[in-house]
Amino acid sequence: KLYNQIQEAKGNIRVFCRCRPLSKQEVSTGYSAVVDFDAAKDGEIGIMNGVTKKSFKFDRVYTPKDNQADVYADASPLVTSVLDGYNVCIFAYGQTGTGKTFTMEGTEQNRGVNYRTLKELFKIAEERNETYSYNISVSVLEVYNEQIRDLLATSPSTKKLEVRQAAEGFHHVPGIVEAKVENIKEAWDVLQAGSNARSVGSNNVNEHSSRSHCMLCIMVRAKNLMDGVCTKSKLWLVDLAGSERLTKTDVQGERLKEAQNINRSLSALGDVISALATKNNHIPYRNSKLTHLLQDSLGGDSKALMFVQISPSENDLGETVSSLNFASRVR
Ligand code: ADP
Ligand code: MG
Repeated sequence: KLYNQIQEAKGNIRVFCRCRPLSKQEVSTGYSAVVDFDAAKDGEIGIMNGVTKKSFKFDRVYTPKDNQADVYADASPLVTSVLDGYNVCIFAYGQTGTGKTFTMEGTEQNRGVNYRTLKELFKIAEERNETYSYNISVSVLEVYNEQIRDLLATSPSTKKLEVRQAAEGFHHVPGIVEAKVENIKEAWDVLQAGSNARSVGSNNVNEHSSRSHCMLCIMVRAKNLMDGVCTKSKLWLVDLAGSERLTKTDVQGERLKEAQNINRSLSALGDVISALATKNNHIPYRNSKLTHLLQDSLGGDSKALMFVQISPSENDLGETVSSLNFASRVR
């Protein structure tokens, strides 16, 4: 309801800012927090740099005290939208270590947006089963160095995966696995399998995941049992690669290439969203695999939600301001 209210007043993209708590290590090192939440209720967040404060405004600001359920409560109207036939995209942006995976995936004790979304999707589908018949399937992709990898594929594909546009305008990746799922357990098992496949072939799982985009796509095919009308909609749940800028150690080889590709796709995402916000005629979806994949769920009558994740710590100040600037441009 909240989402739809703001939605009517403004465009189709909402930005929620979430700040994690200071970590134990940051506390023991003696780093202090530089974030001011005094006006968080009004969607404002302040970043202290010495005595000066820079403020940013978003649709929502979550303090380190807000929990997973608080965060999901504001995203949940989008789940209804998917079942109503809208394309939706929810993604987490930010520096590595700021809680993107915590927000999206969460932990078993502290479920994130992905699990809660799927659970509610099945619940509402069930409630509507006298009027609609739903067919739900999931795909799990990873985009690394501008290459799409199907994490549900049982054998590695020899063919390069590409985004194609079907006759009716729908974008898809021919050849990827779409696993049909009947309930939350089946869906979660599939997502776990995809997540496990992600680490295969990389010697450092955490490093690899911070340098690639993890993309879940939930396809919903609905048939209205009254009039027989069928609709197809999709929900993207995306844990983006870390937005941190190049460091001195990244200046050559594989790291440089990775960093450049991340840079390219995240700035392509920013360009697409800001072109949409300014109602530009040309939306540059094709500048990266990420935006090309998300095309149907960014713009048009689709609904998007971005979590910009930040660290409260003084030693992350530069990256924090850079993330908040990116997110402000989107808004
Ligand atoms: P990212 O995916 O952006 O690299 P993670 O989700 O892995 O970051 O989070 C880094 C660490 O911070 C993890 O140990 C995670 O559990 C913790 N963390 C992140 N956000 C929160 C939060 N809101 N509350 C408590 N712990 C958090
Ligand atoms: Mg992560």
